[in-house]
Amino acid sequence: MPHSSQFSIAPHLAGIALEHTGDGIMITDADNRIVYVNRAFSEVTGYTPEEAIGETPALFKSGHHDAAFYQGMWRALREAGQWQGEIWDRRKNGDIYPERLSITAVRDGDGHIECYVAVFTDIQALLRAEEKLQRLTRFDALTELPNRAQLSERLHQLVEASRSNNQLLAVMLLDLDGFKNLNDRYGHALGDRVLVAIAQRLKQVARSSDVVARLGGDEFALVLRGLPHMDEVERVAGRILVLAGAPCEIDGQRYELTASLGITLFPFDSADPDTLLRHADQAMYQAKEGGRNRYHLFDAEQDQQAQTRRQLLDRLAGGLANDELVLHYQPKVNLRTGQVVGVEALLRWQHPELGLLLPGTFLPHIEHHDLIVETGEWVVRQALAQITAWDRAGLTIPVSVNVAARQLLRKDFVDCMRHCLGDFPDAPPGRLELEILESAALENTRHVRGVIEACWGMGVGFALDDFGTGYASLSYLRDIPAETLKIDQSFVRDVLEDSDDLTLVEGIIGLATAFRRTVVAEGVETPEQGVLLMRLGCDIAQGYGIARPMPAADVVAWIAAYQPDPQWALWADTHWEMSDFPLLVAQYDHIKWVRRILLYMDGATLQLGSAELCDHHQCRFGHWYYGHGRRRYGRLQEFTDLEPIHIAVHQIGPEIVELRKAGKLEQAREQVHELLALKDQILEKLSNLQHCVAGKSAEPDFTQFGLF
Ligand code: C2E
Ligand code: MG
Ligand code: MG
Repeated sequence: MPHSSQFSIAPHLAGIALEHTGDGIMITDADNRIVYVNRAFSEVTGYTPEEAIGETPALFKSGHHDAAFYQGMWRALREAGQWQGEIWDRRKNGDIYPERLSITAVRDGDGHIECYVAVFTDIQALLRAEEKLQRLTRFDALTELPNRAQLSERLHQLVEASRSNNQLLAVMLLDLDGFKNLNDRYGHALGDRVLVAIAQRLKQVARSSDVVARLGGDEFALVLRGLPHMDEVERVAGRILVLAGAPCEIDGQRYELTASLGITLFPFDSADPDTLLRHADQAMYQAKEGGRNRYHLFDAEQDQQAQTRRQLLDRLAGGLANDELVLHYQPKVNLRTGQVVGVEALLRWQHPELGLLLPGTFLPHIEHHDLIVETGEWVVRQALAQITAWDRAGLTIPVSVNVAARQLLRKDFVDCMRHCLGDFPDAPPGRLELEILESAALENTRHVRGVIEACWGMGVGFALDDFGTGYASLSYLRDIPAETLKIDQSFVRDVLEDSDDLTLVEGIIGLATAFRRTVVAEGVETPEQGVLLMRLGCDIAQGYGIARPMPAADVVAWIAAYQPDPQWALWADTHWEMSDFPLLVAQYDHIKWVRRILLYMDGATLQLGSAELCDHHQCRFGHWYYGHGRRRYGRLQEFTDLEPIHIAVHQIGPEIVELRKAGKLEQAREQVHELLALKDQILEKLSNLQHCVAGKSAEPDFTQFGLF
């Protein structure tokens, strides 16, 4: 057995230093047998010098390193005479520990290896301290859950993973309801114990790859992966609430809390990890607002909309400041006299990038925001400026302005109008009319009535816009004294084809007459609609069929050049009684019946029942003819003339249907010509009858009544 005496050791002082240094020292000979160990060596390894000397360092092998590791070490010693690094060794008691080791090969004068000197430090304590530090910075000390920093790191990884394997990732934020009260009432120590208990429960929900973290206070986050579908997300959310809501038993006392949970789902919500957390937080607040003890799912689409709205608000406020808003004007004419009786100011946004925007693209987004009030005031002032300018140019035309509900319902609306009018002393207030939506007026009829009366005091008039869409009742019309009703364009559009719309328009006109209001039809697109409206008693019309909204600069020239449609003049001096309206309607019922046969010829299914098709008493025209019509006009020749033609119509109609069914298209078409001729005769006779009833002699050719 080799002895330390065989080795030529350092002088006396060096020996003392070696023995007492804190680093472990071990010297092996050229054959790698241990020849010397110091005290620190024994302290770290547990081996006494007697036990170690004569052995090889293989004694300490931990099994943590492979052969390649040791080969690398020997290569370095051979080639560079030195190796250093961290290595795991085994103590005598079997413990494995990390050490920082440095080995030097000592050569003699001839270059032969004389010995190896190994110096090492046990770094286990150091690592432990480091680990502890790690834990402190990454974990919450109270609950031992990951903290916000650790969560953020894990969330990044999980989002990446979820993106690449296309899995749902639920990010949840939980906040205890009423925790602050509990803390205040029973003290922080108890509060802490409750938090620990809740943390334990939340851990039960999570699988090893999920994350449950404490964000601070009574706020926890859960990131759950691999939930297969929405139902499962909701089930887990429900379970979390149950767990969080179960009473905590501490020192024999029960404490009950509930929790509010906000959830967002990646990739439906495809935001970055930090934003996901923010969205879950937003959803959690909504759960709180919704009454607590519940979960709320973040709605990515809704959020997007809210964001778009915010951007639009900013942009529009900028547009208002930069003079990007303009008013276009759409004329209103009196069908009977051919006069232009006013213009409606309609807002446009001359957007620098998007071009001219219609109000439907931006107003709905600001109608619940004060910006609509500011915009509305701008519109009123702009209109007053225009009235002044036109007045100076000799055009004395009323201008109507649309007023938003929010603007109208403000307490200071009347004051604001007064200021506006005061700022434009040359604009006669009587030229200004305010159009208010029927639905807005309905919201607070008392307030609106007060506003109307106060504005009347200043000379400003009112119209109820989009009338017929707001479910106004009769009593309401009494409460809202606006002088004008504007029939909504949706009813006017189909007035010639849809008898329900016709009935509605008729009803509104009747109502307006009964309440002595002026009635205006919006959205008149064809001269025929104009004729019908006038015959029904609505003389004032507005619509593309007359003119589209135009820039202020074009208005004067347009008015100078305006020619009313010649058809309107034909009925200009005819006035109808309400009880004659069914006579007008009958005409459209007949047209519709014929049209259905034509559609059937074109391949559509037949929209007529067999009685309606074959029996001249059973169609809508027949109902009128043998009912109301006969009672009222039965004595008139013009009326009795209609019957044989109508009977012929009901003979030929079913024949056409039969021929078409049998595939005899050529013959069917010939019959259709016949039918159209009969239809023209009916319209002509009806026209005669109408003129007779209206006290006029039959005049022009009404067979060209537009539809075919
Ligand atoms: P409104 O007050 O009922 O105005 C009539 C709308 O119908 C206008 O649309 C007009 O261009 C359109 N129109 C007119 N004739 C026809 C027609 O024959 N066929 C069809 N299809 N449409 C026709 P616009 O200018 O897009 O305005 C839409 C709505 O925006 C207005 O409906 C009004 O409620 C609102 N609005 C417009 N300007 C303002 C404003 O300055 N302030 C407020 N608060 N609302 C405004
Ligand atoms: Mg309007
Ligand atoms: Mg309208």
